[in-house]
Amino acid sequence: MNSEMRTNQFVSYVTNAAILILVLIMMAIYNLIGAKILVVYSFFVTAFYLLNFLLIYKKWLRLYIWSTYTMLTIYMAVCTVMLGYNYGFNLYSMSTIPLIYYVKYIAKKIGGKDPKPVFWTISIMLSCTISSLYTVYHGPVYNIGGIPQIVFLGINIVTVCSFLFYFSRRMVILVIDSEEKLEIQANFDALTKLSNRYFMRNILLNAVQENNTKAWIAMIDIDKFKVINDNYGHNVGDQILKHLAGIMTQVCKDCTVSRWGGEEFLIYGEEDSVSTDIIEQLRKTVEDFTLTLNDQSIKFTITAGVSAREDRQTMDKWIISADNKLYSGKASGRNKVVY
Ligand code: GH3
Ligand code: MG
Ligand code: MG
Repeated sequence: MNSEMRTNQFVSYVTNAAILILVLIMMAIYNLIGAKILVVYSFFVTAFYLLNFLLIYKKWLRLYIWSTYTMLTIYMAVCTVMLGYNYGFNLYSMSTIPLIYYVKYIAKKIGGKDPKPVFWTISIMLSCTISSLYTVYHGPVYNIGGIPQIVFLGINIVTVCSFLFYFSRRMVILVIDSEEKLEIQANFDALTKLSNRYFMRNILLNAVQENNTKAWIAMIDIDKFKVINDNYGHNVGDQILKHLAGIMTQVCKDCTVSRWGGEEFLIYGEEDSVSTDIIEQLRKTVEDFTLTLNDQSIKFTITAGVSAREDRQTMDKWIISADNKLYSGKASGRNKVVY
């Protein structure tokens, strides 16, 4: 079972238990005030919520939601008709409507079926309106008032607000969490954890818009990487990419390092904080580095083309200029930096 399903099952257990406890407390109060019809009705409701535990256990969560909503909608109407609209039972519509949209969001996330929130919104609205208007016109079946009314109104307001608080908070936490994950996926590379091409393009665009002539880029490519992959396997190739990413971020602390694609990296720096000499230092560090994996010592090198941004140069021309220098470095023997 995936963890999201487990969390939803747990939340369902807690919610069902909370509602069941509430039903039992209310049943005790109905008994105290002599509302016999509501006591008998509460027995059926209790049995219903006990059965709900089975639905949750079986992971039939949509059926559980529908069963709970049916019960809540009927319970709200029955109690309003029996005791009156000013006991706060109709307030439940305010928490059940946003809650069903929360359930829709969760269902979509875990690939479950749509809980039909529009159907439930209309049902709850009708149940609330008809039962409330009915008691205004006919008066409630039990005319009790006094302390019991204050107790019910208090319990109902606190319960409705607690449900609203709990589920609104969960909803916002889930949305923020999922937006943060999406942002990481959109801007970072999963293998090396470096920023990706999309992220770097925005940095370059910024430098171009500001016409920053102190900015420079280095296009870096691993030498003969295909041969390394062929000799040692793709997994070792991946380890090299990860280690190289680590070396680049360590050596070029004041730069922005990105995985431009495949085995190509683009480093962005600004002359005021870091000189382009850092790329030669990086080349040397990589040349001196030995990766030890499964008792094998693996060496590799990089070639780089460094291009300082010229006045009014567009982003594409800037990148092409670095690319051309990289390829001239490849053509003239590799393991070098072309400035
Ligand atoms: P050159 O020195 O001219 O750059 O030679 P090269 O072999 O590095 O260049 P080429 O473009 O022919 O090959 C690049 C290789 O990089 C081919 C591709 O399989 C490998 N590669 C690209 N992305 C990944 C990756 O994520 N993991 C691994 N292991 N290999 C990758
Ligand atoms: Mg390449
Ligand atoms: Mg290469």
